[in-house]
Amino acid sequence: MNPYDFVPLDLSNPPRRHRPLDWRNVSGLRGVISGTVTAETPILICDGRSENPIRFMRLSGLGTTSGKAFLPGSSLKGLIRSVVETVAPGCWWRSGESRWKDAIPNDFRACTDRTRLCPACRLFGFLGEGSRSSVSLGAVRFQDAVAEDEKPHPASWVGPLESPKHQHRVWYFPNGSVAGRKFYFHHVPIFLGSDPGRGKRVEPLGVGTTFRFSARFDNVEQDDLDLLLYALTLEPNLRHKMSYGKPVGLGSVRVAIDHIEFHPALAAADRTRQRLEGVELGRYLDQHTERFRARNDPTLSAFRRIWHWPPAPGVTYRYPSREWFRAHPTAPLAETGAA
Ligand SMILES: [Zn+2]
Repeated sequence: MNPYDFVPLDLSNPPRRHRPLDWRNVSGLRGVISGTVTAETPILICDGRSENPIRFMRLSGLGTTSGKAFLPGSSLKGLIRSVVETVAPGCWWRSGESRWKDAIPNDFRACTDRTRLCPACRLFGFLGEGSRSSVSLGAVRFQDAVAEDEKPHPASWVGPLESPKHQHRVWYFPNGSVAGRKFYFHHVPIFLGSDPGRGKRVEPLGVGTTFRFSARFDNVEQDDLDLLLYALTLEPNLRHKMSYGKPVGLGSVRVAIDHIEFHPALAAADRTRQRLEGVELGRYLDQHTERFRARNDPTLSAFRRIWHWPPAPGVTYRYPSREWFRAHPTAPLAETGAA
């Protein structure tokens, strides 16, 4: 089976845009979400220093965290933003690129007006074209998530054909319209070779490696906070996937929230912070993510099918060979067994 599939756009449910809260809306929710990201398959965030070997990103400097592996805040933000864009739905960030432009339905094209933003742009920021007035920083900031517990994994090798060089146009744009958002299936076992000299040497961290994350939110509406909480915690049978080597099975992770600290609204007379954890947090999360778990539209159904955990036993995920693409230039993605 092909290692990825598309979550389709639901044309009957376009992004709902409105003005984001700002410093004048003193009632917006503020606080910090803290928790852990745990590797369910080996994980590798490239440090960008060398193409071969590929090593895990590590903190520099002299502090107590120096040398520790971490997930950059920007990677976490990108991961969670992609879930929000898919689920909410949000706008299609890449619609400005020429090859996407005509293939994306009007309602789903990137936001252009700072006073009318989709949920993803309200939460994570917006970069319009032109003047400075068309920039919004977004309401959520992720810190770098530092490893608390690094599990070793033997150095391995990834073959050169296991990177997605080839984008098969019929799959991305069936009938001229975009197929949807691309997500990779989880799979176990992963396909890392142990044969030195074949492809690139990679140095992932092992299953069970845990990173501690925190995300600050400022001036967020309850509906948008609910969406963020769903995008973080998903559902018991779903996992996120991030990192290098998704097609070969790296980067399946479980995100768990430990506590949420609510800071008083700017207008509140009572300055005490409220901390939710344990049973109380569980109840809050259930209540506030219920409406997403109850959805059974085409978007959520496909999303659940692709990011399902644990993965289906006995399925092998590989890109079809170049020969296959040559022999089947117009075959839909379903013909590789993905649907
Ligand atoms: Zn948007």
